[in-house]
Amino acid sequence: MNQKSRLIKQADKLYSIHRIKQVGKCERCNKKYTLSLCHIITRGNKKLRYENRNTLVLCYICHTNFHSYPLIFTEFIKCLKGEETYKWLIRESNILKPLSKDFYKEIIEQYK
Ligand SMILES: [Zn+2]
Repeated sequence: MNQKSRLIKQADKLYSIHRIKQVGKCERCNKKYTLSLCHIITRGNKKLRYENRNTLVLCYICHTNFHSYPLIFTEFIKCLKGEETYKWLIRESNILKPLSKDFYKEIIEQYK
């Protein structure tokens, strides 16, 4: 694994732990266990990977349902995040740019 991959892995882990602690429950059903971080726009979009507006804390069941019923979840996301944030996410998801090692170092510093 190269240095950039290690930085991404570390940044992912710290950000995920931070968000789960910060939210503390499933944002759909309020359950407080089997929580994980869910990305609305895939983690493949590096710019939105550590963006709170692009993430949800979900329990295992809601996270599984999220991927099984994307249309239902689209409506849920619009209600939870607001129509404007939803539109912003769609706009941002179409702007792709490669990110430097320094970007990941900043994320690690911010959430450790
Ligand atoms: Zn849930």
